[in-house]
Amino acid sequence: MAKLLEGREVTAALKTKHQTEVDGLLSKGITPTLGIIRVGEKEDDIAYERGATKRCEAVNVAVKHFVLASDAVQEELIELIDGINADALIHGALLFRPLPKYMSEDKICNILSTRKDVDGITDGSLAGVFAGRTRGFAPCTAQACMEILDHFGVELKGKRVAVVGRSLVVGKPLSMMLMGKNATVTMCHTKTADLPAVCRSAEILIVAAGRAKVIDKSFCSPGQILIDVGINVDEKGNICGDVDFEDCEPVVDAITPVPGGVGTVTTSILVEHVIEAARRSI
Ligand code: NAP
Repeated sequence: MAKLLEGREVTAALKTKHQTEVDGLLSKGITPTLGIIRVGEKEDDIAYERGATKRCEAVNVAVKHFVLASDAVQEELIELIDGINADALIHGALLFRPLPKYMSEDKICNILSTRKDVDGITDGSLAGVFAGRTRGFAPCTAQACMEILDHFGVELKGKRVAVVGRSLVVGKPLSMMLMGKNATVTMCHTKTADLPAVCRSAEILIVAAGRAKVIDKSFCSPGQILIDVGINVDEKGNICGDVDFEDCEPVVDAITPVPGGVGTVTTSILVEHVIEAARRSI
């Protein structure tokens, strides 16, 4: 049976660390504060907002909510972000995407100050990740994968890692971060030839394809560590990953569950980034 890499173990360790860090900031008169920006009333956004707020407040990170109507014009959102950039009492901001189609997501994301970009949505933050410099923040999901590997003591130096998916939210920044830890990374996508063979040859396989259960045991090999970033709904209405857990689990050495894996850790990384943004603001 594969070892289960449970997110709650990682978040428990992070929570203890965060509490100490926040106490230190509070003693200096600084309350780390996250601004959450939401356009409209999408159920998924509201659920994530609720979870993130709870996780922040559990360690005394404050949250301010900014909600615009689903038909808000782009200028309203720009004005709101400008206000957050200018507000010294808000250290980080989370903007739910996708934005309404009539808005320019690229333009709006880059209005946010890189210093407050705690979810890596600005070109400045991504440049920092790609150059290996402390500038802005990595996307929380990509960093959550790194945190899980680190927490469970997975050595990356010299390892063959395959990443399935090349989005700017997960696959690309994650590949750069893995390379920063001296892994040998193969980035895979829909045009990758013989994807099962490429995946099988990896010692660590990370999947962020956005397709329910697209990875079955034919992509896996014994000894492998399998990280499933996917969050999908299956034919029965249950949450499932991009990995077919039942099929792959008997083959690999360790695997993240869905739910209860990467998604759980992502919110804690958001908290971590808000604390770090507050610390950098001193
Ligand atoms: P995305 O923007 O849709 O990108 C998907 C990537 O996977 C693309 O690069 C695509 O290749 C590749 N891909 C899709 N199907 C493939 C296949 N059959 N074989 C090989 N490559 C394939 O998705 P995303 O935003 O990165 O999200 C990926 C997954 O992570 C989703 O399930 C999402 O729900 C989940 N997610 C989880 C969290 C979390 O906190 N756990 C956060 C964000 C996202 P091409 O580039 O060739 O099209």
